[in-house]
Amino acid sequence: MSSVSTGVMPTDVLVVGGGPAALAIAAELAEQGLAVAVLSASDWRDPWPNTYGIWGDEVDALGLGHLLEHRWSYTCSYFGSGSSDPADSANSPTCHGRDYGLFDKNRLQHFWLERCEAAGVQWLRGHAQELSYGSGRSQVATAAGEVLEARLVLDASGHKAVFVQRPDRGPVAGQAAYGVVGRFTAPPVQPGQFVLMDYRCDHLSPEERSEPPTFLYAMDLGQGRFFVEETSLALAPPVPYATLKQRLERRLAHRGVAIEQVEHEEFCLFPMNLPLPDLDQPVLAFGGAAAMVHPASGYLVGALLRRAPVLAAAVAARLRAEPAADSLQLAQAGWQALWPPELRRKHALYQFGLEKLMRFSEPQLRAHFATFFSLPKEQWYGFLANTASVPELIVAMLRLFATAPWNVKAGLMGMQGRELALGMGLILTR
Ligand SMILES: Cc1cc2nc3c(=O)[nH]c(=O)nc-3n(C[C@H](O)[C@H](O)[C@H](O)COP(=O)(O)OP(=O)(O)OC[C@H]3O[C@@H](n4cnc5c(N)ncnc54)[C@H](O)[C@@H]3O)c2cc1C
Repeated sequence: MSSVSTGVMPTDVLVVGGGPAALAIAAELAEQGLAVAVLSASDWRDPWPNTYGIWGDEVDALGLGHLLEHRWSYTCSYFGSGSSDPADSANSPTCHGRDYGLFDKNRLQHFWLERCEAAGVQWLRGHAQELSYGSGRSQVATAAGEVLEARLVLDASGHKAVFVQRPDRGPVAGQAAYGVVGRFTAPPVQPGQFVLMDYRCDHLSPEERSEPPTFLYAMDLGQGRFFVEETSLALAPPVPYATLKQRLERRLAHRGVAIEQVEHEEFCLFPMNLPLPDLDQPVLAFGGAAAMVHPASGYLVGALLRRAPVLAAAVAARLRAEPAADSLQLAQAGWQALWPPELRRKHALYQFGLEKLMRFSEPQLRAHFATFFSLPKEQWYGFLANTASVPELIVAMLRLFATAPWNVKAGLMGMQGRELALGMGLILTR
């Protein structure tokens, strides 16, 4: 393993992290011809713990469909009325008519690792601890006492970022989920089915239905294996794992299904509404550290794949145009490319929307999503994949309001808690 200390090896960008964001941006920066080092607390070759899903259209648009391990065309959700009558027509699925895929996470990791290797990225093991600036450059001190210097530091250390600063806007809501990959006494979903959201709650008592709603995210993995995950969209503080696990077992039992063999348990918790980082700081960020998780869906990987080339090109262009550019100037070029006004407005819009949804009662949530997924496919997809423009999003939201039932309209109109502040932020975002 190589070791970079002050003055030993000239590094343009030191990427801190070893997850999907770090690998994605390191590969792109190095392919731009920059000297890139990755400093990771864990081994960057270690298998990732999370499963990553994505819409088929997103991965196809990037020409990366071969990185998927599973792909479903039978994709649907359930927003049933909550009645316990199995003949209730609300028990029939809302079909999405769009493919959904699960990444082969090893293939995705190697896709980025091979590009990093080919472009000459240096790999360093260490826990970044302190960041300082001097002579226009950045210095990172590790827990082991090593000092690494680069023209720019890029923080890709995840949602609990080590260096990047952001304003404190109060409690951050977390998406929490408890899931099981395994075998079951009976199929928990239909053969070949992918269920994005099953919000049916006929297994819960009336008291339980007044608690924060959760939904099932589930898929048939083939050969008798399934992935089922009880999920809370977002809440501060997050729904505890014990509650999610108990709800999952209750939901399955109600449908005559029990877990037979556990292959893997997934404990999922990540922030959904992190404020955007300060865009005038001399350290750049990417991935969870840069608040790139979609505040309405929790997805990140599609954004990493789409936005890494844009960010890397902007940093490289600034360096080419101004070879003596300091850390602050390089970071500013990066921040402007990563969070241009259009994306900041969309982020504000999504955060405003999420704040509303977090206050919705369970019937409101189910009615909201039933209305949302009855919008034209381009509209709900553009919203979820973050590919629609601001005007397109506003048209979609107005249409949703116009077609929503009264309980949803009432929820959308009332301003509670910090909704007003977020709404103002949306108007004032430049
Ligand atoms: C269980 C789960 C399921 C998810 N599912 C999806 C999904 O289906 N689709 C999707 O798009 N998104 C999903 N997400 C959201 C998001 O994609 C992930 O959180 C993603 O892992 C974030 O990537 P990241 O590289 O920014 O951070 P991380 O994956 O958290 O990686 C951070 C890296 O930084 C390193 N590090 C941390 N601190 C330091 C330090 N001080 N010094 C050096 N290195 C450091 C860590 O060792 C780690 O390697 C999921 C998240 C979770 C938790």
